[in-house]
Amino acid sequence: MLTRGWLGFAGREQMLRTEEQKERHALANHKWYLSHKQQTLKHNFSWRQALKLEVFSYYSKSPIPFCLHCGQTDIDVLCLDHICNGGVQQRIRLGNIGGHKFYSRVKKHDFPEGYQVLCANCNLKKAMVFCRNGNSL
Ligand SMILES: [Zn+2]
Repeated sequence: MLTRGWLGFAGREQMLRTEEQKERHALANHKWYLSHKQQTLKHNFSWRQALKLEVFSYYSKSPIPFCLHCGQTDIDVLCLDHICNGGVQQRIRLGNIGGHKFYSRVKKHDFPEGYQVLCANCNLKKAMVFCRNGNSL
């Protein structure tokens, strides 16, 4: 059984009646994906970048996201930090999701409080200080 790349087919999938129809549809989907792979990858990358920008802009309270500690604006090195720590436990609880899946979840839950934007260095430094003070991640 082939897997589908995106949820847009979920509704259509339910309309299909037989296993044979489902399998034929999956093959057609996969064939389409292979013939449009570069276009799809480019589209997905753009979508993930736009999502990250939206989420990070929200938590930075600025159209250009930045590290709350040092001011770094390179979005490639920015990350979403749990203000009160506990990111590891949350990641385990949510099934080890990260990146765009986590950003989608944050957006879906209407941007809950408790997050801030930090660069990777400042986030790592925060974790090191946290652990140095006798805490564990
Ligand atoms: Zn920083």
